[in-house]
Amino acid sequence: MPEIRHNIITREWVIIATERAKRPEEFAKANPRRPPSVAHDPKCVFCPGNETLTPPEVFRIAQDGAWQVRVVPNKFSALDAAGELTRRSEGIKRVISGVGIHEVIVETPAHDRPPALQSEAEYERVIQAYRQRYDDVTRDPRVAHVTLFKNHGERAGSSLEHPHSQLVGTPIIPPQVRDRMENALRFYDETGDCIFCSVLSDELVDQVRVVTQTEHFVAFLPFAALTPFHLWIFPLRHRASFLEATEEELADLARLLRSIQRKFYFGLENPDYNLSIRTPPREASGLKYYHWYVSLIPRVTRVAGFEIGSGMFINVALPEKSAEFLRNTPGEPART
Ligand SMILES: [Zn+2]
Ligand SMILES: [Zn+2]
Repeated sequence: MPEIRHNIITREWVIIATERAKRPEEFAKANPRRPPSVAHDPKCVFCPGNETLTPPEVFRIAQDGAWQVRVVPNKFSALDAAGELTRRSEGIKRVISGVGIHEVIVETPAHDRPPALQSEAEYERVIQAYRQRYDDVTRDPRVAHVTLFKNHGERAGSSLEHPHSQLVGTPIIPPQVRDRMENALRFYDETGDCIFCSVLSDELVDQVRVVTQTEHFVAFLPFAALTPFHLWIFPLRHRASFLEATEEELADLARLLRSIQRKFYFGLENPDYNLSIRTPPREASGLKYYHWYVSLIPRVTRVAGFEIGSGMFINVALPEKSAEFLRNTPGEPART
């Protein structure tokens, strides 16, 4: 019989459809590897030589005079960076002016080098850029919350091939973030514990859903994983915000995240995926009840009517089996 599992952190219920379950390796076939593209595309706006095609750069990490990571405002920004924050109500309708920050983090000058193919040193610079921009943008008084994410591949919502991530600073706190903070606060009031630390220690006892553990982070599949290979990466020690991560922790995170993306690339045939840094608003730094983390969702299955109609998910893979598969997947190309 299928099982309906509850995620205590998100309060989501997920149908784990064991009878429809596929073997983990079947998901790789569903989304075959795209052929490698060129290292430099003269038509790509993010490739070196085309810097004038983007809005002026706001941040860069350079080496020997050449940029390695570059951050620019999104040319097709969802929000206006220059406006003033205003609010108005008309009857039951509420409107806030669409001000905010929308930036693109160009991860590498190489058009054909996604995180899985970057060196550890290269990917560490990407994570440093994430933190630096997160720190800067959250200081904007109009910004209430920053969402930092990466869409890899078309099924994940990316239209540009050049490896990049995005950051959106909104003048409101998204209701989903607010709900999770309230839920975590309630748990803390009732138990005196951080709900994330509690889930993490439970996972470390069970071990069956843990994929990798490093000195500072644990990568595991949630008990009620939404999709096959839905992965969470939690800081091992309690940290409320991404801003609290030390340099050493950021370097450790970069190594771990790169190795996970290599497992996807080589073990699941380079699936499309979404990565996001889930961290609370800046003023939540230091809170005892909230805990930042990274979420990775490979798009190996499609979201359809049931998910959209109910907000509930059907996962056709057993999280324990998916975790075992990822544990045993080397982050290296198969030898032939
Ligand atoms: Zn490019
Ligand atoms: Zn915690």
